[in-house]
Amino acid sequence: MSLHIPFDNSFARLPTDFYARQAPQPVKAPRLVVFNDTLAQVLGIRPGEAEELTQVFAGNDVPEGATPLAQLYAGHQFGSFNPQLGDGRAILLGETVGQDGVRRDIQLKGSGQTPFSRRGDGRAWLGPVLREYVVSEAMHALGIPTTRALAAVETGETVWREGAQPGAVLTRVAQSHLRVGTFQVFAARGQIANLRKLTDYAIQRHYPDADGPMGLLRAVRDAQSRLIADWMAVGFIHGVMNTDNSSISGETIDYGPCAFMDVYHPHTVYSSIDRAGRYAYANQPDIAVWNLAQLATALIQQLDDPQAGVEEATEIVHAMPDLTQANWLNRFRAKLGLSSVQEGDLELVTDLLARMAQNQCDFTNTFRALSDGTARDQFVDPAAYDSWAEGRQRRMEGEPDPVALQRASNPAFIPRNHRVEEMISAAVSGDYSLFDRLNAALSRPYEDQPENADLQRPPTPDEEVQATFCGT
Ligand code: AMP
Ligand code: MG
Repeated sequence: MSLHIPFDNSFARLPTDFYARQAPQPVKAPRLVVFNDTLAQVLGIRPGEAEELTQVFAGNDVPEGATPLAQLYAGHQFGSFNPQLGDGRAILLGETVGQDGVRRDIQLKGSGQTPFSRRGDGRAWLGPVLREYVVSEAMHALGIPTTRALAAVETGETVWREGAQPGAVLTRVAQSHLRVGTFQVFAARGQIANLRKLTDYAIQRHYPDADGPMGLLRAVRDAQSRLIADWMAVGFIHGVMNTDNSSISGETIDYGPCAFMDVYHPHTVYSSIDRAGRYAYANQPDIAVWNLAQLATALIQQLDDPQAGVEEATEIVHAMPDLTQANWLNRFRAKLGLSSVQEGDLELVTDLLARMAQNQCDFTNTFRALSDGTARDQFVDPAAYDSWAEGRQRRMEGEPDPVALQRASNPAFIPRNHRVEEMISAAVSGDYSLFDRLNAALSRPYEDQPENADLQRPPTPDEEVQATFCGT
């Protein structure tokens, strides 16, 4: 039996202005690290022999039916517009329509140079590849929209970052790789016919009920406002929310120097290149609005009456903060075990968070402990918890099943940054046991797993990761 991927490639049928046809660049000595059989099944892939998987997901063999290409896009990076980015080290092999009827992209990342590589080598090193594998699969298990990881291959080649590193290729899967920046590139070039084609394509693929460009804008806004609330609820910091890393489907995409927060503080930043804290934890809702405004600016260019469009688009964008806030509050209500809506809920949540910040509480463990009565132990000053808990006790009256709701809303396991770093160091020296262990534990994040209690522990001061480098 041999590998079969039932490709059905719609993006490749768009005009050639949208991409550059480009085959992946072969690598010297590929070794398959991991293949995600469960995901393969969803995609309708028949896996075949290990050797075939290795060659295909290293980029050495192009599978039958693939139409390999690098996608064009632009983007605002840390607020300044770059008129041309594009897949500088990624190749879209094609799409499948899965067993669930969902169309998904299959993309190699780190598969060599493309016409959009600028000065980059087109490659990725093992560390970020394994981080994306673990964190994106964990995100999926948490129930948060995300790209997923289908395979990781070591290339047997050296990649130069902060020193010599082992090279690797990640295969990732997304509902699409359309980004805010995909719209920006055509708007910036004044290619209105292409902008219209892209808009129609995005609507058909993601939001078939959306009515025209402004309907699309509204749908993206709603999906993004849910996504940001989801991130906030698990303490996730994306780290590089540039418009080229902001997906139209509302999935988490382009995992770089991302991390889940340990100690709760709203200003937390992990990325070493984000010196001003533009993409700090608590800024993410505002940045999503800023990114949506860039999408609006691009979409408007195709309207027959752009002035009327400006007004409607402004209204759509301006409604986003309240929507995100409402989604956020629903998420945090559930984290407190509250299924009803009452006045004063917002104050109850923000009061807890303020006390958590003052008391250096671990974000994940404090919320998880709300259901077993040990949350006060997480506070430097347990009295700060007690006085908050009185108010909560009153609010809990009449709540049907707060403990079950809490346990389903507060994960016990997140990919702790120090564990991810430890996993990467071990893998670089050939030991994949922690990689396997993390994937297994993180696939059931809401279940207690006493045998994995060490993975719940926050870092000690010397285990703490100071900065996650963007040398991805
Ligand atoms: P990122 O911030 O990782 O999403 O990447 C931003 C842009 O830089 C995208 O266009 C990437 O394709 C490109 N890029 C990042 N790393 C490399 C690399 N090593 N070689 C070529 N292009 C790269
Ligand atoms: Mg990117």
